[in-house]
Parts: sequence; C-alpha cells; structure tokens
Amino acid sequence: MPDLPATGPSAGSVHKESDNALVSELNLILVGPPGAGKGTQAEKLTEDFGLPYFATGNILRAAVADGTELGKKAKEYMDAGELVPDDVIIGVILEALEGEEASDGFLLDGFPRTVPQADALGEALQKVGRKLSGVLLIDVPDDEVVKRLSGRRTCVKSGHTYHVDFDPPKHDEVCDQDGSRLVQRDDDQPDTIRKRLAVYHEQTEPLVEYYEGRDLLRRFDGSRSPTDVHDHVRATVATLRLEDEL
Ligand code: AMP
Repeated sequence: MPDLPATGPSAGSVHKESDNALVSELNLILVGPPGAGKGTQAEKLTEDFGLPYFATGNILRAAVADGTELGKKAKEYMDAGELVPDDVIIGVILEALEGEEASDGFLLDGFPRTVPQADALGEALQKVGRKLSGVLLIDVPDDEVVKRLSGRRTCVKSGHTYHVDFDPPKHDEVCDQDGSRLVQRDDDQPDTIRKRLAVYHEQTEPLVEYYEGRDLLRRFDGSRSPTDVHDHVRATVATLRLEDEL
C-alpha cells in the first residue's frame, strides 16, 4: 500500500459474533450529494460494525496538505469543485482495498463517483471473489446542501465537522474532540458548492440507477436528523449482513 494518509474517523478490525464464528464480510459504499451527512454517518457506522473507512475526499485533502504527487495532480480539480480524473483516483482506492486493512470488509465514502469508477471497483472485487454488500444513498435537496455546506467548519486534523448554526463547537474555531483548528474548506464557498452539486447530478447520480439495477441500492432521507438517519442506516446494514449469512 502507498503512503496513504489517515483515511477517516476510525479503522476497525474483523467483527466477531462469538469467539469462533466470524460474521460475513460487509463491503459498503456511501453515496449522496456533498453535505448529505455521509461523513457523520460513516463515523457512526465504523463504530457499529468495526469497518475500515476510506474517504477519497479525506485521502486527497491529506495528499494536497502533504504536497505529494497525488496532491499536486488533484488540487486544481478540487479547488474548482470538479472531480479529479478517474485514472488518478481509481488506482489509489483499488490499492487501498487490496491492503490488509480492507481484507474483511470496508466502508467507502466518495468513491465511486462516476460509472467508470463503479465498473473498475466491480471488476476488481470480482477478480478476488468479493462483492458489494450494499450501496447506501443518503439524499438531501440542493437548497439544504447549500445551507449546510456554507456554514460547515472542518477540523484540520480529524476531519470532524461542525456547523456554525446547527452544530456549533463549544469554542469558536476549535474542535471539541482534539482542540485542533476548525477551517472552512476552500470548496465550501457558495460558488464552488453549486459547481459540486452540478457535478454530482451529472456524473455521480447515474450511479443510483446503476446500483438499483444490481439490486444493491438502499435509500435514506438525509434531511432527517443525524440520529434518525443513523438508526435507519444501522438497521438496514444489520439486515444486509443477516441476508448475506442466510
Ligand atoms: P469530498 O470530501 O468527498 O466532497 O471530496 C472533495 C473533492 O475531492 C471532490 O470535490 C473531488 O474534487 C475530489 N474527489 C473525491 N472523491 C473523488 C472521486 N471518487 N473521484 C473524483 N474526484 C474525487
């Protein structure tokens, strides 16, 4: 595996149901527009199910901050609210999934974001006899996205997010969890948010039909409270795992 930066809120291990029975592998994808709350749900899901978490946005932002080759290739696209080219991102994520950490399951956030990325993921999993367990779509209307993202503040260290009105930190500009600085992401400026939404509708939304056709899609109303969404998602993932074991 390359020098992958911290990939998300937590990384887990194989989930054991009892001392000698391993529960089946969960290979999950989170899909939804920017600001749908995917990162928030991912934090909870990784805890619930002990899954390693790979968020391409976090991986790319860390690469930009570290000034790596990947970061240099990605920065311009990210600042403009555009997707980095498929050939840049596909290699990164497939390499991560080949690593030991992802060998018993994974949660992907922000990948795939285009049909060619979904094809590449499907082929890579098929080659090693694995398959997706489910694709979790968290949907929210565009106006709500703009409201959420323009007030969003992100911890420079952990990636944990706050909202200046709806979920403020205890102290201005400081992360409650680790005391690090909170910043507004460059791509959370109103014009860039609109651009990211347009890119989502054009390039990522076709994945809804793509995965619906493969009977993998599960939909959630992301305009509900984070707790409500989490209850619903957790129950669905638990069912997916049970179905897989039958
Ligand atoms: P996110 O944090 O998921 O909103 O991602 C931030 C930015 O990273 C996006 O606007 C894209 O520029 C880039 N990015 C993240 N994931 C991908 C992907 N799967 N394909 C292409 N670009 C991506």
